[in-house]
Amino acid sequence: MVDMETVVSLCKRRGFIFQSSEIYGGLGSAWDYGPLGVEFKNNVKQLWWRDNVQLRDDMVGLDAAISMHPKVWEASGHVASFSDPFTGCLDCDRHYRADQIYEAVWNSRWFRALRKTLEGPAARKNEWSAVANWAQGEGKKLAPNFPLKDPKPSIESPTRYPFKGPEDSNFHTFLRALVHAGNSLGVLCPNCGGVKLSAPKPASLMVEIKLGPVELTATKTYLRPETAQGIFVNFDNVLQASRKKLPFGIAQIGKAFRNEITPGNFTFRTREFEQMEIEYFVIPGTDEEWHQRWIDERFAWYQKYGMRKENIRLREHTKDELAFYAKRCVDIEYLFPMGWSELEGIANRTDYDLKQHSTFSGKSLEYFDEETKQKLVPYVIEPSGGVDRSTLAFLIDAHHEEEVRGERRVVLRLHRELAPVKIAVLPLLKKRSEIVETANNICADLKKRWVAVYDDTASIGRLYRRQDEIGTPFCITVDVQTVGDGKTPGDEKVTIRDRDSMEQIRVSISNLETIMADLMEGRWAELVKVCPRQATSGSVA
Ligand code: ATP
Repeated sequence: MVDMETVVSLCKRRGFIFQSSEIYGGLGSAWDYGPLGVEFKNNVKQLWWRDNVQLRDDMVGLDAAISMHPKVWEASGHVASFSDPFTGCLDCDRHYRADQIYEAVWNSRWFRALRKTLEGPAARKNEWSAVANWAQGEGKKLAPNFPLKDPKPSIESPTRYPFKGPEDSNFHTFLRALVHAGNSLGVLCPNCGGVKLSAPKPASLMVEIKLGPVELTATKTYLRPETAQGIFVNFDNVLQASRKKLPFGIAQIGKAFRNEITPGNFTFRTREFEQMEIEYFVIPGTDEEWHQRWIDERFAWYQKYGMRKENIRLREHTKDELAFYAKRCVDIEYLFPMGWSELEGIANRTDYDLKQHSTFSGKSLEYFDEETKQKLVPYVIEPSGGVDRSTLAFLIDAHHEEEVRGERRVVLRLHRELAPVKIAVLPLLKKRSEIVETANNICADLKKRWVAVYDDTASIGRLYRRQDEIGTPFCITVDVQTVGDGKTPGDEKVTIRDRDSMEQIRVSISNLETIMADLMEGRWAELVKVCPRQATSGSVA
């Protein structure tokens, strides 16, 4: 699997994602989508919208405001309890989520370095003196407040290497032994290695805002931490306007804001992000079945757009993790470079939200069931995914490095519907004006239907590699044969190259649009059988 540094560097170099306010030193918790990133992210959103709203009869969409009445957040329970436990290091002043502290230590620079020592031959002889030696050497710089400066043979050896990951109980025991009763969490600071971590306290994730220019009369509210509440408070409006019958759902894509304690891992955890959420309203009693259906559908959705089976899994929430009102919750997790982490949560929220808003607003949010002639408060199934996390996961999953005839090729095997650029039109010789003109005309025509680019800024081999690296599924090359060489007339044909197989076929310009439409439907294998193949040679593969 590709590491995060490689992904961040590719994203910056090729214009997918830049750090926010970079020329001012950057804002660690925010990222800007560049020319390719915006196309790519828009494709993720558009496919989600098409599959979950436009192709279904039981779904409608909504685009609610980001700022909402402050009472919404009291009713939803966010003001009182939307918080994460945090702990702070008294030595270096960094803050961490207490419930994710083992992962933070596991992924820290100093522990990654120490792990190599722990798994080496010196540790097999005497692990504590190996750790102490590390602390006197490399550890001095990486973890200046690391506690173990002398060997401590009195500490019972607790370790069983190699540790399997941040969840491994041997890893926890090892850390506890190092901390030696220095703090209640039993871990060291992921930044400086110190033991002075404060006892966990809740920190609100709500981002407060004041709306209105005059301090005294301004409305104090919050930037929404999720899009869901905009849907609940509009339940009756949508019901009346759309005349939908249960079961039906309302979908929304939009920005959300959370004062995360430790934003990080690139766009995985940020303070400003986008969500794609569905609130699916059902008759109580049918909720468990609908919940399972949504779990299956959402799990299949990621794989439909190319996410590899082995990198995606479902994780059932334990009783302690469940929100008090939730009946069941299942996360879809992706194997990110830092380990399995949530992509989307699918919860059975019962009738909690509608009832809360009904109580706080004084408005009935009941549904009249014509079959039973009774009023009821629907149960809600909520598939709630992150746009940024999905975009990142699709990108990581598509990243491949391979060797082609002795050269390294980086290729993003993005599903064609996700790829930011669908077609690149490339002239084989930019000195020949007829070739350049033909290529430009083809590109202008194709742009009417697909995102297409023209590029003549390098040799053909390099142009192909560039398009491979950004995931462009098809390249069209115009060459001398297309336009003729003055003696022999042109054949009015171009070469289409498939990104993944690097196979090439030769087709008439007059058929190009029809053929491209077929290719966009995924028919390369069929076309290869009927179109003449073009031989590939060395660097132009
Ligand atoms: P986590 O446990 O990772 O903090 P969560 O369970 O709080 O996530 P939800 O409240 O279920 O997340 O939000 C639904 C989705 O929104 C998540 O699955 C994720 O894809 C996305 N999301 C939540 N918080 C963030 C964030 N800080 N940055 C980016 N995406 C986020």
